Amino acid sequence: MDIQLQQVGYAYAKDTPFEKRALFDVNLHIPSGSYQAIIGHTGSGKSTLLQHLNGLLKPSEGIVKLGDLTIEAGKKAKNLKPVRQQIGIVFQFPEHQLFDETVLKDIMFGPLNFGVPREEAERRARVLADQLGLPEEVLEKSPFDLSGGQMRRVAIAGVLAMEPSVLVLDEPTAGLDPRGRQEIMDLFHHLHMEKGLTTVLVTHSMEDAARYADRVAIMHDGRCVLSGNPIDIFGDEERLAEYRLAAPRVVRFQRKVEAQLGYPLDRLCLTEEQ
Ligand code: ADP
Repeated sequence: MDIQLQQVGYAYAKDTPFEKRALFDVNLHIPSGSYQAIIGHTGSGKSTLLQHLNGLLKPSEGIVKLGDLTIEAGKKAKNLKPVRQQIGIVFQFPEHQLFDETVLKDIMFGPLNFGVPREEAERRARVLADQLGLPEEVLEKSPFDLSGGQMRRVAIAGVLAMEPSVLVLDEPTAGLDPRGRQEIMDLFHHLHMEKGLTTVLVTHSMEDAARYADRVAIMHDGRCVLSGNPIDIFGDEERLAEYRLAAPRVVRFQRKVEAQLGYPLDRLCLTEEQ
C-alpha cells in the first residue's frame, strides 16, 4: 500500500488554550514495499506522525493518503476499517495491550474480530507463534505468566495474525536485551524481504535505521527535515549535527572501508564495526 503525507500539520487540543502543535507541513511518501525508518529525538513528532498512518489521528492541515483512502483536514473520513485491517501497528510496549485468558486466544483475537474463520485464525496463530520462537506449550498459558520478551512476541504475533500489508513499528525493541532486539529486528527484516511487507520503523536507533531501512526520514521539532536513502542521509554528518544526531557506527565503518578501497560502495554494509 502506498502511503503519502502532503503538507500535514497536527495540533493536539486544537482551538483550546491547551493547543499544542506537534506536526508542521510534513511531506512524506512511503512507497509500497519499502522499509522506511523515521528517526528523531523524543518530542520530535514521531508518534504523532505514526498515528496518522492508520487514521488514529486526523490531520489538522493537509492530506494523508493510505492506498485508495484519502483523509483530508476538515473533511469527514470514509470508512477506515478496511485500511486498519491492512495496516498493523506495533505500539511501544505492545505487551501492555495483552488481555486474553491464553496466548492462543490473544493472538487469534484480531482475526476473529475481523470475521476470519476460527480454524484459519488458529492456523495463523500457531504458525506465527512458531516463527516468533514461542514454544507450543506457551500457547495455552496466560500471557501474563510469560517473560517480558515472550509477551512482546505474543503481542507482535497478534498484529501479524491480521496479515497486514503494512507494518508500522514504534520502537518495537524498547526494553529488550540485545539478543531479543536482534531476533525481533531480523524477523521484521525477513517479513519485509520475503513477503514484501511495507515496513515503517519509528526508532531512536540510528544503527537499526542504517542496518534495515531503505529510506530514512528525520523528524525535528515537528518537521520532517531530511528524507532520502540512508547513504545520503547518514553520509551528511554536518546536516545530522544540526539536528544533534551522529552518523551510525555502520556508516562510519563503511567510510573507512571506502577510504581503503578508494571508491564508494553503492549501499550500506550490513557488517558492524568490530
Ligand atoms: P516523539 O514520538 O518523537 O517523542 P510525540 O509525537 O510523542 O514525539 O510528541 C510531539 C509533541 O507533541 C511533543 O511536544 C509532545 O509533548 C506533544 N504531545 C504528544 N502527545 C500529546 C498529547 N496527547 N497532548 C498534547 N501534546 C502532546
